[in-house]
Amino acid sequence: MFDQLSDKLEGVFSGLRQRGVLTEPMIREGLREIRRVLLEADVNFQVTRDFMKRVEEKALGERVLKAVSPGQQLVKIVHEELTSMLGERRSPLALAPIPPTVIMMVGLQGSGKTTTAGKIARKMKREMRQTRMVACDVYRPAAVEQLQTLGEQVGVPVYAEPGSQDVVGIARRALELAQSERDRVVIFDTAGRLQIDEQLMDELKRLKEVLKPAEILFVADGMIGQESVNVAKGFDDALDITGVVLTKMDGDARGGAALSIYGVTGKPIKFLGVGEKLDGLEEFHPERMAGRILQ
Ligand code: GDP
Repeated sequence: MFDQLSDKLEGVFSGLRQRGVLTEPMIREGLREIRRVLLEADVNFQVTRDFMKRVEEKALGERVLKAVSPGQQLVKIVHEELTSMLGERRSPLALAPIPPTVIMMVGLQGSGKTTTAGKIARKMKREMRQTRMVACDVYRPAAVEQLQTLGEQVGVPVYAEPGSQDVVGIARRALELAQSERDRVVIFDTAGRLQIDEQLMDELKRLKEVLKPAEILFVADGMIGQESVNVAKGFDDALDITGVVLTKMDGDARGGAALSIYGVTGKPIKFLGVGEKLDGLEEFHPERMAGRILQ
């Protein structure tokens, strides 16, 4: 994950560290290189610009110019600002004060929604919370079956009404069942499309009204580049999402676009998907991720 970005940043910093004293022109040159590295890694242009502005303000202050080891100071500033670009602090899953906690998974088809629903169900179950999944992706019969298979693997019941396309009705009945069974967490897998369309958004909005979810998690394929940022913005504008899951982060994609989603939407990244298997879910910690990038 982010190996290329890491290596290139390290290249810039090691160049700067080798010089004992840093003058303002040297720092400016270093900052230009950092900017280039971020853009090459596919970090969104606006996010890069805001980031660089903040780094520059700090880096050209006395803290660096007068520091004993200026290169190290600069690394520290970049670490701080990367952390803030990634969301500042960990944002855990929100649990509703009165159960069940409803989680709605949304995103484009193929982003990893269904898989992530299974992963979160597994995590909830391991944390001793009675959990249920609900199949609201009714247009692809295979999606219902996929969720049922995941449910069996994880040991979590799945509510589905095969053959029905009454998404709102399914959601309502599933919620009633969850309430009567005293579930703690109910995860709704919803339909995705290859691209955002109005019909999909209308359906999701209606589901949101009925379900009043504690979390609307937007699932983004970390490999698809800048488009993921636009898609995130589209879903957020329509649904006011509460968090983001970046999937396929086990791949060696440039990944910088995914790192821009917080900067563009202001919505926290809650988890990373790091594998096809059900244990491939990591909690996202902005500071740790910044540390990983700056290794
Ligand atoms: P959905 O259409 O959004 O429900 O997407 P799926 O959950 O069916 O996932 C689409 C494909 O991505 C499947 O082949 C998954 O195995 C794969 N996938 C999902 N999450 C990850 C991940 O974190 N890493 C990898 N490598 N593959 C993933």
